[in-house]
Amino acid sequence: GQQGGEPHIPFNDLDSDTKVFAVASGKGGVGKSSLTTNLAVALAERGQRVGILDADIWGYSIPRMLGVEGKPIALQDMVLPLMGHGVKVISIGFFLDEEKPVIWRGPMLHRALQQFLADVFWGELDFLLCDLPPGTGDIAISLAQMLPNADMLVVTTPQQAAQRVALRAGQTTAQTGMRVAGVVENMATFVAPDTGTEYAIFGEGGGALLATELGTDLLGSIPIDPRLREGADDGRPLVLSDPEAPASQRISEIADGL
Ligand code: ADP
Repeated sequence: GQQGGEPHIPFNDLDSDTKVFAVASGKGGVGKSSLTTNLAVALAERGQRVGILDADIWGYSIPRMLGVEGKPIALQDMVLPLMGHGVKVISIGFFLDEEKPVIWRGPMLHRALQQFLADVFWGELDFLLCDLPPGTGDIAISLAQMLPNADMLVVTTPQQAAQRVALRAGQTTAQTGMRVAGVVENMATFVAPDTGTEYAIFGEGGGALLATELGTDLLGSIPIDPRLREGADDGRPLVLSDPEAPASQRISEIADGL
């Protein structure tokens, strides 16, 4: 960091070339972190310089999904991000004691986020993806203040109930002034590999409905693929291990549109 005044954050200028996306969801478990990871890797595959700021304080899982281990090193007063599959990552999990419960309050989170932006040597980035904690909250508001460029991607499952909680998350943009770049529906239909029959396991239509309600576009609908979970557990994102899988293709189409 710098002494005195506002810290300089390389991508907070309105004329910055870095595209910043805050990935949000109404609740946990909808695939927000999986999507963030696969999108980032898809962008890196296209030669983009990509960073992920994992601010999901209750479910920080990006390092594992990227196959990254260990803690970042501090060089003088800067922290170097770790790198997995060509993506730079700083996770709030690097700085938490796994044995202790998370009892941070708003101001602490705000400070942590500020440090992640100002005291991390990100270098030049084309994209910065911020994985937000589920729900509406302090972090989205802090992030919007620090990165006025940030657009929000809202992730939901096709379920109507999930869509309603996601709506609330999307509506925080009204308070924060963040623009919603679009909705991504995850865990859409499952296609049985043996018969080709499609099953709408988590319902249908939630993504389109949410996009309409938020006045934005549905950027894509990603099917259920058990290999997406396996890849997340082993640090081998599906977009790399099977770029031809329908889920990978949908994610790549979304990456191309960002
Ligand atoms: P969140 O970040 O919203 O809490 P995660 O990305 O951790 O959600 O996903 C929750 C679980 O669902 C993980 O085990 C993940 O691997 C799995 N998962 C996510 N998307 C899919 C999908 N399209 N098909 C199958 N499993 C998925």
